[in-house]
Amino acid sequence: MTPTPNTGLDAHLAYARRMDRIDGLAHYRARFLGTDADADTANPRSYLDGNSLGRPLRASADRITDFLHHDWGTRLIRGWDEQWMDLPLQIGDDLGRACLGAAPGQVFVGDSTSVLLYKLARAAVDSRPQRTEIVLDSDNFPTDRYILEGIARERGLTLRWIDSDTESGVTAEQVRQVVGPQTSLVLLSHVAYRSGYLADMQAITAAVHKHDALVLWDLSHSVGSVPVDLDRCDVDLAVGCSYKYLSGGPGAPAFGYVRSDLHEVLTQPIQGWMGAQAIFEMGPGYQPASGIRRFMSGTPAVLGMLAMQDTIAMLNEATIESVRAKSVALTEFAITLVDEWLAPMGVTVASPREQTHRGGHVTINHPLMRQVTKILWDNDVIPDFRAPNGLRLGLAPLSTSFVETYDGVAAVRDVLRGILLGQNGGRGHTRPVELR
Ligand SMILES: *Cc1c(COP(=O)(O)O)cnc(C)c1O
Repeated sequence: MTPTPNTGLDAHLAYARRMDRIDGLAHYRARFLGTDADADTANPRSYLDGNSLGRPLRASADRITDFLHHDWGTRLIRGWDEQWMDLPLQIGDDLGRACLGAAPGQVFVGDSTSVLLYKLARAAVDSRPQRTEIVLDSDNFPTDRYILEGIARERGLTLRWIDSDTESGVTAEQVRQVVGPQTSLVLLSHVAYRSGYLADMQAITAAVHKHDALVLWDLSHSVGSVPVDLDRCDVDLAVGCSYKYLSGGPGAPAFGYVRSDLHEVLTQPIQGWMGAQAIFEMGPGYQPASGIRRFMSGTPAVLGMLAMQDTIAMLNEATIESVRAKSVALTEFAITLVDEWLAPMGVTVASPREQTHRGGHVTINHPLMRQVTKILWDNDVIPDFRAPNGLRLGLAPLSTSFVETYDGVAAVRDVLRGILLGQNGGRGHTRPVELR
C-alpha cells in the first residue's frame, strides 16, 4: 500500500488550517522568535523538539539585553541586594502558581536537574536511615538512573528496579508490587521522556506513602505542558527542567519542590553558603536557613533565570488547562497522520493512544528513524531521535501550530518513503513541502 501523495490540499491540511484559525492560543506563537510569524529570523519549516529545547520568546531577547545594559551594567554588585538574591524563590513561587499547583514557599530555582536530583534524593534516603531500598524504573532518563546508582553506592543501598515498558510507563499497580517497609525513596518521571506516558501521580504517591516512603517526581517533560498538582497529590519532592517547555534557554537552571512540612526534617548534602541561615555573617559553622532556601547551595545563575520568567508569565496568562487542551489536540492530530500516512510503511506509535495517559509528545518507531531524522534536520524539519528506533515529535503547545505539525509529519512521510523507494541511490530525498 502506498501512502497518499502530498497534494498540499487534503482533508488533514484543511483541518489543520481550521484548527489554527479557531485555536484560542494561536496568537501566542507570534511571541516566539523563529516561528513563521517572525520575519527577522531564518525559520525552521517545522520545529518538533520544543520538549527538548523550547523556542525563545521575543520578550526574553529584550529582557536579556535590558539586563546587560541596566541591571548588570549599571547596578553592578548592588543588583544582589536590590533583586537577585530573592529571584530563585520568587520565580519558584510564580512557577508553583502557574504550573505546579504548589503554594508559595516550596519551590526554588538553582543548579541543574541532575544536581537537584542528587540533593533531594540524598536528603530523602538520609531521612530513612534504617531503610535499605530505592525504587526506580528501567526506562527513566539516564541521569535519573545514574544519580541513584551513585547514591546507592555511597549509602550502601539496593536499587529495586521496576521493569517499565518503553512504549508505556510505570503504573500504580507496579509501584504497589515493589514498595514495602524497606523502601526509603521512589523516583519516577511524571511524563516518560521516551514514550510520553503520563503517570498517575496521585495514585502512585498514595501507594508510596502507604509504606511511609518518600516520592521524588521528575517533572522535566510535564512542566509547562501538563497540569501538575503537587500540593493536592501530597507529593514530597519534585524536580524539573526549565529549558524544555519553559523556554529558559540551553542549560538554564532547574527547579526543585519540597513540601513545606519536610523543610525542617530533611538535610540536603551540598551545604553551601546560599542555603545558610545568615548568608552575609559568614560565620564559622553551617546553620541551614529555614524554609525552602536551605535547599539552595551556591550563587544563583541569575543570567540563566531571565528567559524562564517570560514563559512562566505567559503560561500563567494562557492557563495550563488551556495549554493541555491544545497539547492533547496536537498529539491526537499527529497520531491520526501517523496512522494514515506512516503505518503502511511499517511505522508504529510508541506512545499511549489514550490521551489521559499521554503527555505532550509522541514517539514513533521504525528501524530507519536515525537516517530519517538526519535528512529531516538537513532540511530544516526538526524532531529528535531516541535510540534505538524512535523519532520523537515534541509539540510544544504555545509555539507549535497544527499546520506545522502537519508539515512535520508530512516531511517524515516523504523522507521515509524516499528511502524505502531507494531514491537518490538509497540516500532518500525530501520534496520541499509548501512553506506556510
Ligand atoms: C531533560 C531531563 C533531564 C536533564 O537533566 P540536566 O541535569 O538538565 O542535564 C533530567 N531528567 C529528565 C527526565 C529529563 O527529561
